Amino acid sequence: MRRRGFLALAGAAGLAASSAAQGRPHVVASFSILGDFVREVAGDGVQLTTFVGPDQDAHVYEPTPADARVLASAAAVVVNGLGFEGWLDRLVRASGFKGARIVASEGVKTLRAPGRRGHAHGHGHGHGHGSIDPHVWQDPRRVQDMVRAIARGLGKVDPERAENYRQRSAGYVAQLVELEATIAADIAAVPKERRKVVSSHDAFAYFQDRFGVAFRAPHGISTDSEPSAADIGRLIREIRREKVRIVFIESISNPRLIEQIAKESGAQMGGRLYSDALSGPSGPAPTYIAMMRHNAARLRDAMIAE
Ligand code: ZN
Repeated sequence: MRRRGFLALAGAAGLAASSAAQGRPHVVASFSILGDFVREVAGDGVQLTTFVGPDQDAHVYEPTPADARVLASAAAVVVNGLGFEGWLDRLVRASGFKGARIVASEGVKTLRAPGRRGHAHGHGHGHGHGSIDPHVWQDPRRVQDMVRAIARGLGKVDPERAENYRQRSAGYVAQLVELEATIAADIAAVPKERRKVVSSHDAFAYFQDRFGVAFRAPHGISTDSEPSAADIGRLIREIRREKVRIVFIESISNPRLIEQIAKESGAQMGGRLYSDALSGPSGPAPTYIAMMRHNAARLRDAMIAE
């Protein structure tokens, strides 16, 4: 019989190959930062595909038919959750994906998104008032919980390697503890009254919560709509009034608006921060830890500078 024949063949010749290739679960990560966490937790134990790549904006990502095909064959998809991947549910339905959904933010202590200052309601933002801020990865202590959630989820998908995932995640958590201390030291070098900057969108509330740097931005917690001229005018007046001296562009955003805000407010350009995506391998933020070190060093240097 064909089926027995196939199984016999797999049994005889396929074992070595299957443990190297088919034996590794195919795991999809929704965006680059989560892809890095999965790589840290699983090493080469999984075959990893990441949808939204380096320097790409996950808020406005448009999945392709190829993404649906990739997802259809995956054993698990790792997502941030909290509404960050607004495109995911439709993609899951379109692909017929039957695997496990691992929500990295599960159990993480969240923050509410700030209301946009002085904004009228009902102006068409899909996000903002009263919703949860999804950018939990900007706090390395919360990332400890994300990494543990990923290890637990992968352990359910692939029980044979569960202990390996747990051990690797513990090793990575130790690096995150070190990272948090490094960032805290960077920020501690800045006089308190200078710890305030502007960036493109409200991506840094969790960083602010952990490290005490005040961030303002023309865009809210998503990049999917443009701020009005009145919003921008209000922000510029706030920058002047509160003597915010530094504005940053973000790697995922068009720098034009931030350059305009710098020009009209008299603030200095502080360089580039990585908010929602890693850089490519030759950039300054090819891993999460490199990204956070880069951001903290840029913030420190720009806020200290006379
Ligand atoms: Zn964002």
